Amino acid sequence: MINIILFGPPGSGKGTQSEKLIEKYKFKHISTGDLLRSEIAAKTSLGIEAKNFMDKGQLVPDEVVIGMISHVLEANPQAKGFLFDGFPRTKAQSEALDKLLHEKHTEISLVLALTVSEDELVKRLLNRGLTSGRSDDVNEEIIRARIIEYENKTMAVADYYKQFNKVIAIKGEGSVNDIFNLLCKEIDNKL
Ligand code: ADP
Repeated sequence: MINIILFGPPGSGKGTQSEKLIEKYKFKHISTGDLLRSEIAAKTSLGIEAKNFMDKGQLVPDEVVIGMISHVLEANPQAKGFLFDGFPRTKAQSEALDKLLHEKHTEISLVLALTVSEDELVKRLLNRGLTSGRSDDVNEEIIRARIIEYENKTMAVADYYKQFNKVIAIKGEGSVNDIFNLLCKEIDNKL
């Protein structure tokens, strides 16, 4: 079983590359952003709580997302491998994920970290906001807040996995296919 974290700031291309990776490798895709947006659409109490944070560009509390991940892992005992997209986003989430995977006698195999300059991120997110229907993509202030959350809380995830030598940086600028091929090369090395 191979489990991958696709890591990177908002707008670094995690969603785009995840779609291509799950098609090729048949991983079970777990995107906490997508899960949270489904909860919001279904107007669940979790969704209503999460929306307050997401609309401000802040991270949703750890216990909320960790609980959600735990449910998805439980619900997918047959998965050949998981592709985590947008999770973990704090050191506490990383530790909780490692514990959950350990209970299932598996672990994170690889953290693929997409690197993109801040100017390019803001440009991409504002552009996405024109069509995505995502309220957190429309306003530059909220986008900057998300990037600051990333720098203050999420970059620690890469540091956490570096101590286990699991992190590989991939340049996230260039063509979608070129970046995809770089990611596949690293995954194939692990198969
Ligand atoms: P992006 O990475 O492009 O900002 P996502 O869809 O991954 O988009 O996340 C959107 C928002 O959902 C985040 O700004 C945050 O508020 C919330 N969110 C998603 N995943 C997590 C997580 N693992 N922990 C806390 N909040 C999260």
